[in-house]
Amino acid sequence: MARCLLRVTGTVQGVGFRPFVYRHAVALRLAGSVQNDSAGVLIDVEGDAECIAELRRRLVDEAPPLARVVSVTAQDVSPAGDGQDFRIVESTDSGWPDVPVSIDTATCAECLAEVDDPANRRYRYPFTNCTNCGPRYTIIRRVPYDRPATTMASFPMCRACQAEYEDPADRRFHAQPNACPVCGPQLTWRQPDGTVEAAGADALRHAVDTLVGGAIVAVKGIGGYHLAVDATDEAAVRELRRRKVRDDKPFAVMVADLATAHGLCVLDHTAVAALTTPRRPIVLAPRRADAPVATALAPGLPELGLFLPYSPLHHLLLSDVGRPLVMTSGNVSDEPIAHDDSDAVHRLGGMVDGLLTHDRPIHIRCDDSVARAAPGRLHLLRRSRGYAPEPIALPFTPAHDVLAVGAELKSTVAVTKGATVVPSHHIGDLEHLATYRSFLQAVTHVADLYGVTPSIVAHDLHPEYLSSKYALELALPAVGVQHHHAHVAACMVEHGVTERVLGVAFDGLGYGPDGTLWGGELLVADLAGYERVAHLQAVPMPGGVAAIREPWRMAAVWIERAMGRSAVAAELPDVDEVTRAAVLDLAAGPLAPVTTSVGRLFDAVAALLVGRRRVSYEAQAAIELEAVARTVDRREAPRYEDAYTVALVGGIAVLDPLPLVARVVTEHRAGAPVALVAAGFHEALGAATAQVAADQARAHGLGTVALTGGVFQNLRFSQIVETALRDAGLTVLVHQSIPPNDGGISVGQAAIAAYSSF
Ligand code: ZN
Ligand code: ZN
Ligand code: FE
Repeated sequence: MARCLLRVTGTVQGVGFRPFVYRHAVALRLAGSVQNDSAGVLIDVEGDAECIAELRRRLVDEAPPLARVVSVTAQDVSPAGDGQDFRIVESTDSGWPDVPVSIDTATCAECLAEVDDPANRRYRYPFTNCTNCGPRYTIIRRVPYDRPATTMASFPMCRACQAEYEDPADRRFHAQPNACPVCGPQLTWRQPDGTVEAAGADALRHAVDTLVGGAIVAVKGIGGYHLAVDATDEAAVRELRRRKVRDDKPFAVMVADLATAHGLCVLDHTAVAALTTPRRPIVLAPRRADAPVATALAPGLPELGLFLPYSPLHHLLLSDVGRPLVMTSGNVSDEPIAHDDSDAVHRLGGMVDGLLTHDRPIHIRCDDSVARAAPGRLHLLRRSRGYAPEPIALPFTPAHDVLAVGAELKSTVAVTKGATVVPSHHIGDLEHLATYRSFLQAVTHVADLYGVTPSIVAHDLHPEYLSSKYALELALPAVGVQHHHAHVAACMVEHGVTERVLGVAFDGLGYGPDGTLWGGELLVADLAGYERVAHLQAVPMPGGVAAIREPWRMAAVWIERAMGRSAVAAELPDVDEVTRAAVLDLAAGPLAPVTTSVGRLFDAVAALLVGRRRVSYEAQAAIELEAVARTVDRREAPRYEDAYTVALVGGIAVLDPLPLVARVVTEHRAGAPVALVAAGFHEALGAATAQVAADQARAHGLGTVALTGGVFQNLRFSQIVETALRDAGLTVLVHQSIPPNDGGISVGQAAIAAYSSF
């Protein structure tokens, strides 16, 4: 006889861990107890020593699907010999929580089978879930994770549900959101003004009829409301664009099953795996030419964003409507997604023909995640529902807890906890007051769930970012982290690297310590610091942010530099002369900010080649340029020789792509096909980047290059730079699970600030 206290840490609450322990302990004839506490799961077990060892093995090897066991430690204690049975003890909620909370998880196959079975008591019940699936992060208010701590607190379980909940042999044993048609949440169908018109199955029928009729419906989901419309109905999709005030930004499409997805997009095994994981991100994949969906879904783009249903409600809706549905975030333009019911009526009522809603509150909003499938590899562009709040390992253990507040666009926040960093869900662009409020909620939610009281706050150096201002108002030691250094650090964290690397950080804009706007940076960096060793030639940005909205302004600047002012008129004939001259004068004047941004260089070339004069969403011009370039096989792309010069200025290498811009203008003027010129531009700029990076790496004795920043969302460009660097014998780090864009900044900031105090 032996007795042992087993301490399990990791994601072990809300994932069916206690029932799992119970079943195995009983099968092994062990006595004792299991409970959740603020550090994870604690098992007090007594019986045959070999059986205890076997239980310990199973805790790791046979853990439930959603559990992520980080450690199991054992402490021998003297046997009491008084118990025969094994029990589950209610949670203690004293002290600070130390428990990772699990993710919102798509409906499992067993639950779906019940929803589809007319004989089952959960037949067509939209809120069916079990310990292996269902909402988690979005319904939890505090830890330990128990029903009273979730938004299910107001739904007392009926007898049948309670029996499942208490039966150790049942799949719903201690499933906190357990519910059924008798005791659980119910659907309602509301008119745009919020008036309830129908409930339950009738509500669903109203929504289905409305969608089939080509109208727009707001649908309450897991992390917020979607705006839904028939994705095959061109007029309906256009009407949604008009009402949502969204000109061109692509809409995601939810399809009933994988077979439908295959009919819309070309999907390799990576894309299929991404679509079918219980995390259920939106997956961007090449659209089939004959895909039977509206062209207005993603104007001018060769990819579609697809995802599969992730709640029983989605499954019912998709199968009843019988067509793919646009499921786009429920908001106007760039505001935060609506998740609160009265707010949804207020903000979405004017845009929709009805709301399909329900009475299970969403505690924290959480947008859909977005991934891009490259052959054999998946890149997360937005890490949110299905990923948050999963921690990411740090390559060291910080001495203090850090809060990192991120940048401004695609905002996320992060906290460090032990040797991990926990990024929040996607918050959005911190330009609206509503988004700022959402940012404050995210800070509190993530810190509370992990019981973190930060002693250091990390922020961007940009003094005008709302996140920086917030950080500086906290009564905490603040660490300002340079934007591109944070990008490089995020990439290092993803790969568990702490030694010095050459970081290539190419993006739209980030504040440089010299007061200029950086965005084409080569940094020799580690988590302790960085040195800027090379950058793109700085050029003026006429009108500041106006030059971001109107990429032709950057084209004018680069063309004038390359070929003189008369060439600008010839290349941008549709821009009227007065405006053109005013912008060029502005560029030459003292007030134009200067930038080394590679994103702006892509904008300039896109304006020239694909004629994109104004953008309606971030990086639109560059995305369109990549799309055009990708129609050309890399082997067919022209090779422009002598595309750049490098000058040493104050010990820093300045890469000037002026000859490349001149070549692009000449080719374009000579009538070369736009796709070929776009492909040639990608090849030449990629080769130049790799050459300068390899030279710098060699000069500084570095063997590893990290590619980061929003520009590396461009997979064609990334691939060119990567292969050239690998051919040069270097190790190349690219982002996959942390976004290369500003959504990854908080992770980099947290790592740098924590490292400085470690
Ligand atoms: Zn399930
Ligand atoms: Zn029930
Ligand atoms: Fe950035």
